[in-house]
Amino acid sequence: MLTRTNPKNGEALSALGFGVMRLPSKKTPDETGAVALLREAVRSGVTYFDTAFVYSGGRNEQLLGKALSGEYRGLARIATKLPPYMIGKLDAAKKMLATELARLQTDHVDYYLMHMLMDRAMLDRLAGLGVLAWLEDLKRQGVVRNIGFSFHGVKDDFAELIRAYPWDLVQIQYNYLDENAQATRDGLRLAASLGIPVVVMEPLRGGQLVANLPEEVLSAFAAAHPEWSPAEWALRWLWDQPEVTVVLSGMGDAKELAENVRIAAECRPGSLGEAERAVFERVKGILLEKTKVPCTGCYYCMPCPYGVDIPGCFQQLNDKHRVKGAHGVFKYAQALGALSARPGFASICTECGKCEPKCPQRIAIRKELKAVAREMEGPLFRPVVGAARFVMRSGRRRKGEVHGEGHPHG
Ligand code: SF4
Ligand code: SF4
Repeated sequence: MLTRTNPKNGEALSALGFGVMRLPSKKTPDETGAVALLREAVRSGVTYFDTAFVYSGGRNEQLLGKALSGEYRGLARIATKLPPYMIGKLDAAKKMLATELARLQTDHVDYYLMHMLMDRAMLDRLAGLGVLAWLEDLKRQGVVRNIGFSFHGVKDDFAELIRAYPWDLVQIQYNYLDENAQATRDGLRLAASLGIPVVVMEPLRGGQLVANLPEEVLSAFAAAHPEWSPAEWALRWLWDQPEVTVVLSGMGDAKELAENVRIAAECRPGSLGEAERAVFERVKGILLEKTKVPCTGCYYCMPCPYGVDIPGCFQQLNDKHRVKGAHGVFKYAQALGALSARPGFASICTECGKCEPKCPQRIAIRKELKAVAREMEGPLFRPVVGAARFVMRSGRRRKGEVHGEGHPHG
C-alpha cells in the first residue's frame, strides 16, 4: 500500500481509505462479515477509516469500534463526525462525542470532522456556541487529535471556510465528473496550498461512474486500457493528483478490497499521460450530457415520510438516459416496487419539502421528482401497474396465498 504524507502533522496515511458508511452492505449483509472485511483492510495496509455520528443511527460507529478493537486500534486512524445541524448547545456536542467514543470503543478520535459544514455562517455559529474552543481543548488533551470538516457546498463558500480556521484536514466530494462541482479542483489545490490534507469522498459518485455506463464510455475506456475497469479509471484519476491525500472507498467485499488495494499500490502522483487525460475529457462530456439529476445515492434524504424512494427514482431516470435499450419505464416500475404493498413512485411526493435541506448535492428534489413522474409515469402507467397487481393477486389467491380480501369469512 502506498502512503501519502499528511502535510499538517507528517503522519503517513494509506492512499486508500475505507468509507464505512455503507457497511454492512448487500455483499456483506451480516455484521460478522463486515467486521472481518474491515480487519482484512487493516491487514492489507489501509490505515484510514471514515464513519459519522449519524450513519445508520450509530450502528456504523459501533461496527467500526468492534472491528478496530484490541490490536487493530493502534494500526488504524479513525475519522468520525459531529453533525453541527443537530447541535443547539455545547452540551449536546459534548454528549455526542461521549456517545461516539463509547460506540467506537476508544478514548480518542484521530480525525474529528464537522459534518457537512456548508458555509462561514455555520462555522461562526459553532464558534459562538463554544464548540471550537472546546475541541481545541480536547486536542490539547489528546482526545481529539485533529480537527477538520466535510464539505458539500459551493466553491466560494469552500474557499472562505478553508481559510477561516487552521484546519487539520478537510474531506470533499471529488471525482472526474465533479471536477468543477462543489469544492472543485481549485478548492482542492487551495487546501493543499495551505498545507491542509484532503480526503476525497464519493470517488465513484455513489457508483454512477461504474454501473450502467453508456456504450460510448465503455468503448472509450476499452480503446485506451482494456485491462482497467471503470472503477480503476476513476481511482487513477484521483491518485494522479498530488494534492489528494486519501481516497475513501466504500468497499463491499474482499474482492473489491483486494482490487482497490492493488490499484492503490500502483498509482503515484503524475502517473497519467496525455492520452488518458483525453479519454477523461471525452467520457466526462458524454456523462454530463446524459446525467439528468446529480444524485449520488447517499440516502441522506431518506426515509421520505410518504414512502417515495427518492434516490431510486433519480437512478432510474439517469439510467434511462445513459443506457441504450434500458427499457426505462419497465425498470422504473420494477425497481420502485410496482408490485409491492408500498411502491416508492415519484408521483407519491406530496411536496412537503422535508427531504431537500438534507441533500448535500442541493438537488431541488420536489421539482426533479415531478420531472421523473412526467417522464416515467405516463397516462397508462397507473392502469398498467394496477392491472399487473390485480393479475398477481388473483394468481396468489388461486394458490391460497392471499387471505382476508374477498374471503367469505374475511
Ligand atoms: S418533498 Fe416529496 S419526496 Fe421529499 S420528503 Fe416530502 S413527500 Fe417525500
Ligand atoms: S437526492 Fe440528495 S440526499 Fe437524496 S440520495 Fe440523492 S444526493 Fe443523496
